[in-house]
Amino acid sequence: MIDFIKFLGTAGARFVVSKQLRSSAGLWCSLGGSNILIDPGPGTLQRCLSSRPRLDPESLDGIVLTHRHIDHSTDMNIMVEAMTSGTFNRKGKVYLPRDALDEEPVLYRYLRKSVEEVVILKKGNSYKISENVVFATPVSHIHGVETYGLKFKTPGGTVSLIADTRPFTELAKAYRSDIIILNVVLYQPVYHKEVQHLDLENAAELIRKINPRLAVLTHFGMTMLKQKPWELASRLSEETGVKVVAAYDGFKLELSGYLEGEKILTGEEVKNE
Ligand SMILES: [Zn+2]
Repeated sequence: MIDFIKFLGTAGARFVVSKQLRSSAGLWCSLGGSNILIDPGPGTLQRCLSSRPRLDPESLDGIVLTHRHIDHSTDMNIMVEAMTSGTFNRKGKVYLPRDALDEEPVLYRYLRKSVEEVVILKKGNSYKISENVVFATPVSHIHGVETYGLKFKTPGGTVSLIADTRPFTELAKAYRSDIIILNVVLYQPVYHKEVQHLDLENAAELIRKINPRLAVLTHFGMTMLKQKPWELASRLSEETGVKVVAAYDGFKLELSGYLEGEKILTGEEVKNE
């Protein structure tokens, strides 16, 4: 089976989500035979079922929440119900930060016993999905609520999701991987001490420092959408020398090197180009 990540949605930030200019559904990852859903934002269940081929929630082995913000978490409970066949089939794990279980919990209490385990994410820990697939939460992000990015290790290589965060020095080192996925909400820098997201220049800097085989931009705010993310991605490719693509709703990233028929260069091919 080919490992892939399907971007059910690519919306970030309030207006893009509330107006559904892009879908705010999460990321479906099929890695080493396991199915993991990341950040089930609004519309996730619907997007799974309307995907072609259909993505069956009952085939999920786990759901990972990077942080409790509404655009990442609203479909958590319904996805747990769907994963567990309406709670009749106790299975799967839910991974989430501690503050998503505390008061005003993202995961309803009555559903917690319907999953195999509720795992609290902690900085520096790693979590075994299956014999060959592990993910880590190397650093705490700076994002107002408890937030972690994810670094997956598969037999084929490493894939990191640099989830919502204000930029900080340790990011590049923490997410050194073959493929990086970056949540880039802002087009231009916002010079405000409360800023909690990456802008395009922060993304470019991370791509230069990490120098992955492929970088994928996603989680777009309004300012990014207006600038046409696919054009920005090709500009970043030229500037950094790294293959950069912009995700779109329904984008299926085949990790072995193919993207819906269009070939994505593997690391060796990039080096040889
Ligand atoms: Zn957020």
